[in-house]
Amino acid sequence: MTADLHLHTNFSDGTFTPEELAAEAKRHELRAIALTDHDTMEGCARTAAACRDADIQFVPAAELTAEQDGIELHLLGYFLDSENETLKEQLTKFQEVRQTRIVEITERLRNLGVQLEAESVFRLANCRAPGRPHVARAMVKEGYVGSLDEAFDRFLKKGKPAWAPKYKMSAVEAIELIHHAGGLAVLAHPGLSRADETIDALIRSGLDGLECFHTKHSTYMTEHYLELAEQHGLAVTGGSDCHGMSKGKPLIGSLKIPYQYVEWLEQRRDARVKT
Ligand code: AMP
Ligand code: ZN
Ligand code: FE
Ligand code: FE
Repeated sequence: MTADLHLHTNFSDGTFTPEELAAEAKRHELRAIALTDHDTMEGCARTAAACRDADIQFVPAAELTAEQDGIELHLLGYFLDSENETLKEQLTKFQEVRQTRIVEITERLRNLGVQLEAESVFRLANCRAPGRPHVARAMVKEGYVGSLDEAFDRFLKKGKPAWAPKYKMSAVEAIELIHHAGGLAVLAHPGLSRADETIDALIRSGLDGLECFHTKHSTYMTEHYLELAEQHGLAVTGGSDCHGMSKGKPLIGSLKIPYQYVEWLEQRRDARVKT
């Protein structure tokens, strides 16, 4: 029995609908999945329903952008109560920030000769949590670049001319928010950010786990983070970070973690609730 605890739908920058995601999970014989859309839980209700029909366990979650000492980090909140008022308010705020940022990025693009309107990006994204992947897709669609990678490499990456900063909450605030909404806070793909220098501070702030297994982690990284998790008594999670068809072949199914990790995560959540 296996699980995938890092997945996106078209409620953020994935391309699968919740129903398509559940169907893919079924096809790959996953026992449990978590939906970790960026800064939104709007896809959770439909994914939960589709998973119920397919007899798959569903874990409501989200991936929050945060920062620690100037380093961008992604924090996964698992078992979040999507009805928690503080969480709902914060997610709405993040979504507004994302929308304003799209306006800013497209303004920058127009100054660079790329005549892309924010409205075209919003229409293509068709969600409340748009991001740079939607800008990149709109640029491909309108013929300004040949691929998503080209859009990122020439315009959208940090340091490139159309990049615009995004408001982020501190990692401490993000962990508090996740706990306040009944969830567990897990550091996403630590191997992809300069996360090691922040881990001690995150643990002092109450971090619950590390995403040791991730499609972009090397074997060395996975082993390194498993060791760190063991050393600090942190939970271990993992997932494919599948964004659907955005880069051709979907990643779901390419990384499956033993289902046991979901049970350990549940036990940890139950222990938190009691204290
Ligand atoms: P944003 O949320 O607007 O900061 O955009 C970040 C997202 O862009 C990440 O979650 C990645 O999935 C995606 N991303 C980063 N680099 C690339 C790339 N070269 N091609 C496609 N997507 C990317
Ligand atoms: Zn994404
Ligand atoms: Fe991420
Ligand atoms: Fe992700």
